[in-house]
Amino acid sequence: MTERLNLKDHDREQLRAALAERGVESYRGDQVFRWVWRRGVESVAEMTNLSKALRERLASETRLPRLEPSDQRRAADGTTKLLVGLEDGREVESVLIPDGERRTLCVSTQVGCAMGCTFCRTATMGLTRNLSPWEITEQVLIAERILTARGDTRTITMGRGKGGQVQRRLTNLVFMGMGEPLHNLEGTVTACRILTDPEGLAFPERRITVSTVGLADRIAPFLERTNVNLAVSLNAPDDEVRSRIMPVNKKFDMDALLAVVRELPLSGRRRVTFEYVLLAGENDSERQARELARRLSGVAEKVKINLIPYNPHEGAPFARPSDEAVERFRRLLLERGVEKVMVRRPRGDRILAACGQLALSSQSSASQSSGSQSSGKDRSGS
Ligand code: SF4
Repeated sequence: MTERLNLKDHDREQLRAALAERGVESYRGDQVFRWVWRRGVESVAEMTNLSKALRERLASETRLPRLEPSDQRRAADGTTKLLVGLEDGREVESVLIPDGERRTLCVSTQVGCAMGCTFCRTATMGLTRNLSPWEITEQVLIAERILTARGDTRTITMGRGKGGQVQRRLTNLVFMGMGEPLHNLEGTVTACRILTDPEGLAFPERRITVSTVGLADRIAPFLERTNVNLAVSLNAPDDEVRSRIMPVNKKFDMDALLAVVRELPLSGRRRVTFEYVLLAGENDSERQARELARRLSGVAEKVKINLIPYNPHEGAPFARPSDEAVERFRRLLLERGVEKVMVRRPRGDRILAACGQLALSSQSSASQSSGSQSSGKDRSGS
């Protein structure tokens, strides 16, 4: 028996092609896409501008699955960790971060991660598999349902195109959860296309940021296929420290990474964000701030820096630097010509605080009941 077509797992072009293979006219593909994303229908029967015969066919040949949260934990500052149950029984997490008028969701792109960053708890899971595009976009729909259920009825107007404007509960999306988005290039690109399609979820590209650990060979191909914002986890001023805490640096060192960024054809005021998790005693000294500014001198006008004080967990291999150390680091960068330097506040300290921790915690409870142990490190700043 042929597998049912998952109507949520394709961008508009892919859906048109997949339906065309089944003999469905291409404009019908557009209609189905709109029903799925703009109208959020839960069954083909609700697609009332399709003929009855087509609806019956699609009902038997396609599916419209939906994911649900398996756990959620809310911190005093409103940050909420969502554990999302997948169809194969695995789980990934998303983090909902309300901040004034902004309601940001941090989404995962893989179950686990292969990149092995030493400060990251997800790294200890290894990589299980990539998420499909719909498993990424479902995290967005789940978070919006949760906001609605909580009575947070604030919306922001987005969208254009045939579907007209749309009201969204979330204002911003960041791909900084479990997994390396560019290691799951196809899944991430397709999810971004669904999220930004005016007939889809209609998020403006500038409201979406995809973060990479620095897979230098995938940055340009990614930006050729989507126009969302890019963030690169730098986390060190030199190759010695970076290779120690981020094994990817052994494959793509800082020169390779900065060369790619230098060549990016960024238009207008668009900049690449460099994320820099400050680890006390490891990468937060005055010398390292000066070295970082020196390394960035060729790309300074193309980048902005987010400094993120580490968010340690029990047993974490690093500590959070003092506020004074963070401020000193920031000031030294500014004094040396890096114009845009932000400090990001850690959020949700009182729940399991960083990406990877909630899923690991859930695994841990399961494994503890079967007598084994789960351990993990923390990822800060996601
Ligand atoms: S920080 Fe990101 S890329 Fe590095 S191991 Fe963790 S999830 Fe993977």
